[in-house]
Amino acid sequence: MTTIDARGQTTYDDWDGRLIPYPPDRARRHRETGSWSADPTGRRFHDVATRHPDRPAVITAEGSMTYAELDRRTDAIAAGLIDLGLRRLDPVVFQLTNRLGTVLAWYGCLKAGLVPVATLAAHRMHEIGHVSRTVGAVAHIVEVGDPSFDLLRFAHEHAAGGDTVRHILTVGAPSAEPGSIRLEDLGLDVDASAARGFVEAIERDIDPQDVVAFQLSGGTTGVPKVIPRIHAEYWNNAEMYARWLGWDETSRVAHLIPIIHNAGIVCGLHASHSVGACLVLATADAASAFDLMERAGATEVLIGHGHYQAVMDPGFDRVRDRLRRVILSGAKVSAELMARVDDGESHWGGQLFGMSEGMFAVTPLDAPLRARVETVGTPVAPDDEVRILEPGTETEVSDGVVGELCCRGPYTISGYFDAAEHNRSAFTADGFYRTGDLATIVVIDDVRYVSIEGRIKDLINRGGEKINAEELEFLLVEHPGIDDAAVVAMPDPRLGEKTCAYLVAAQGELSLAEIREHLTRLGVAKFKWPERLEWVPALPRTTVNKIDKKSLRADIADKVLADR
Ligand code: AMP
Repeated sequence: MTTIDARGQTTYDDWDGRLIPYPPDRARRHRETGSWSADPTGRRFHDVATRHPDRPAVITAEGSMTYAELDRRTDAIAAGLIDLGLRRLDPVVFQLTNRLGTVLAWYGCLKAGLVPVATLAAHRMHEIGHVSRTVGAVAHIVEVGDPSFDLLRFAHEHAAGGDTVRHILTVGAPSAEPGSIRLEDLGLDVDASAARGFVEAIERDIDPQDVVAFQLSGGTTGVPKVIPRIHAEYWNNAEMYARWLGWDETSRVAHLIPIIHNAGIVCGLHASHSVGACLVLATADAASAFDLMERAGATEVLIGHGHYQAVMDPGFDRVRDRLRRVILSGAKVSAELMARVDDGESHWGGQLFGMSEGMFAVTPLDAPLRARVETVGTPVAPDDEVRILEPGTETEVSDGVVGELCCRGPYTISGYFDAAEHNRSAFTADGFYRTGDLATIVVIDDVRYVSIEGRIKDLINRGGEKINAEELEFLLVEHPGIDDAAVVAMPDPRLGEKTCAYLVAAQGELSLAEIREHLTRLGVAKFKWPERLEWVPALPRTTVNKIDKKSLRADIADKVLADR
């Protein structure tokens, strides 16, 4: 429950105990090393904008803005949000795609001290309802204009289904719709210096350890987990990444994957703005993204594994010459792919391992070719700590041996939000986060690089969108026609992985369409729907009676290969 204290400030009493703060000794160390900042995130943006007022801050297919314009406009939006009655720390559910309005909404909320909840436009009631209840969302911002799904109607259903959402805001609506407010209309009548004054007043009350944004985890168990990121570390995480890659105000940073993901906010939005660079905000469609990159003169790009194939295609040629650095992320990189983006001279290719929970490993600019191809580099903060542990234990393995990647540091969370039980197994006794990824340390020229070797956690990585197997299995067996279900990744040349469901029928086999209808009824996001069904009399089991997913993965990989 929120309460308004004697100074008129919102306090979130029940976040106590649900938020796990950094232990005081670590917090002190991160402040001393400079990994943490005392300044609120909105002010960090404002400070950069003040240094580079006339430089382009963002270029999208719909329009562009300079730093001064973006700063002024988001001050005004923040003032408008405050005027609506929203208060510091109020969580705001975001369902927006890669467009200019999303950037305005993001900084507008941060400057008003509100907390964006980084859900996706693709999420439906199963996800939004759960996350919104967990954080106590007070507002919901949706994009208008998708002919295939009415997000505005959805937002009204969401608000009606709970008792916390008081405001619905739209981005991209041509005119005001009843019961909602256009983000574009906020603060238009507020004088620029008055808006700045409102923002500064809010910022005075922001504690560096206040939550700046809630991100979502692909998760390892039934429901998505909420990741609280805080002002002290979030912008700095991005700035470390930008400086690691040698970006400056002349850089033009293209981003194709959802900007609202942690990778989008950190590597795209905040990283470019932390150094005065320009964000070239494209969409996932490779042809239109390459068009925009060409027109905007993109010099940097992050390529998720859903776009690895597009980089190999001739369409990439027209942007290749201008690109100084290409970061590849999400799956193993072939020597051929690296050679496409890295010529050993003016074109550099590297890799990123990143996660919403925090730790980023990135290829150092001076890493030799072998390290660039075979590893994801090294952690970006001097006080990041990495341990490779024998899975299920706290025993460190030697360099070269594969184990679970575990990490601790200035921007890796100390606990998921409101997840006490899960937190007990997600962290080691001394606070290292167990990533669920398998990794090894590869030593090249005395430098210890991280190499990702697979994962323990049971999820499907569909072109960067994580699908939690257990969550989907629970949803599938809710259908009366399904007795048992096991969901595994099947190889896909474009997305890397897609979802295949092995099912045991209660009576007769159901069609893929029937399964999809069932998941639609349950309000499950479409990207989680299985794309292939395999009906079996019983699921294979291991000697300890667990479902033998290894054999199912091998089986579907063989079948996919045979189909080609
Ligand atoms: P997210 O929190 O959605 O950014 O997902 C983080 C997860 O994506 C990691 O825990 C890994 O499982 C996966 N991931 C991220 N980067 C890489 C990479 N370079 N190689 C393999 N898997 C990766």
